[in-house]
Amino acid sequence: MSSEHWIASAARDRLKQDMPPLALTARAGIAENWSMACTTLTLSPDRLTHIIADYFQLERADFTKLDTDFARQIPENVARSHLVLPIISNANRALIATADPTDTQIFDELALTLGMPVDSCIAPPAEIEAKLAEVYTNQATPSQDWGSMPRSVAGAELSIRRKDGSILDTGTSGSGKTSLMYAMLAEINTPDINIMTVEQAVEYRLRGASQINVDTRQEFTFALALRSILRQDPDVAMVGKIRDEKTATMAAQAVLTGHLVLSTVHTLDGLSSLTRMEDLGVTPNTLSNALQAIVAQRLVRKLCLQCRTARQPQDLSADEQQYAALRAAPACQTIGCDACNGTGYLGRAPVVELIEITGQLQTALRAGERDLARLLPESFPDRVDEGTTTVAEVLRVYGRGFFSRLKQHNNLRIAQLANAAKHQSETDLVIT
Ligand SMILES: [Zn+2]
Repeated sequence: MSSEHWIASAARDRLKQDMPPLALTARAGIAENWSMACTTLTLSPDRLTHIIADYFQLERADFTKLDTDFARQIPENVARSHLVLPIISNANRALIATADPTDTQIFDELALTLGMPVDSCIAPPAEIEAKLAEVYTNQATPSQDWGSMPRSVAGAELSIRRKDGSILDTGTSGSGKTSLMYAMLAEINTPDINIMTVEQAVEYRLRGASQINVDTRQEFTFALALRSILRQDPDVAMVGKIRDEKTATMAAQAVLTGHLVLSTVHTLDGLSSLTRMEDLGVTPNTLSNALQAIVAQRLVRKLCLQCRTARQPQDLSADEQQYAALRAAPACQTIGCDACNGTGYLGRAPVVELIEITGQLQTALRAGERDLARLLPESFPDRVDEGTTTVAEVLRVYGRGFFSRLKQHNNLRIAQLANAAKHQSETDLVIT
């Protein structure tokens, strides 16, 4: 091919006539060159599309087959800057609409992002732009009802507004980790923030975010996907699960280079997630620098509203007495009725706690300390005090260690109060 622009070559080859010179340059941008060619040669964009498709022996894009969920797997900014749009995957090959079939570098990138080989087809720039507008709007956001979410989650919201760091969401299966993570992402999701997610199977759609499915069977792993999205420098990266060394290391590096990374770790409590990260090769020092907060969550059974009654002080069980001594008498008790099948419980409530890794805790973490005392999820006692659940249920979910943690937590609080009082009296001294 001569130094002539490929659009001019295609037109000359197919029109077989003397053509007025086309002032096309690679620098002008693909949309501008299309438009220039159409104007100078008096061709409709549709005619030029056919000419180019024919020249490169490609199909013309058929957007009636557009699978928007599939299209959204590539980042919006990449799709817009290269004017490309995945239409559909057939027999595990992706079909990409492009206005520039010579932009082979982007096809390699897309193959990596989508985890499958790609084929291209031709569409005019304006048509791709119009489809991009459709694909990246009208997306659902998670509509999970977090109305009863404990106040500490408001802290998570604040925390996530920070520019870098990482938030680990821990909990057992089915405790709603993914929903909570999406609720947090939805909080910060504005057009100027570039959010990318990597998941085994995308569970929620987030407007404007690029969401990638990993396929572990095909070796398109979390680590590979994460590397691919970090190259595009997102503000926020959400990694569905951290469960291998490569992903853990890469996530930590991403944080240290200024990204906000959210991920879930499947552990029984918040602090176990630290041990888990260390098992995956993240050093205590890196962890203390990279980790901003842990969100720990569990589900407790809710007292049936049809039959729950106020707890009578004389009826307290041994466990409840112990609880009352450390905190306050439990508010309600189980009875059982038809609505709850005689169990006294109906439905589940999340117990969520945000553990911010700051100050003392950060120092302790760096030193490799694993003192759980400060990490009693406040929400457990809150749930008992407000009459949502029972001491028995908390013990079932949290284990017997609950009491010793509550005790340590109280001691810490007393120490803090004493400290504050001391500080106050010192201030008073200065004033008088
Ligand atoms: Zn009931």
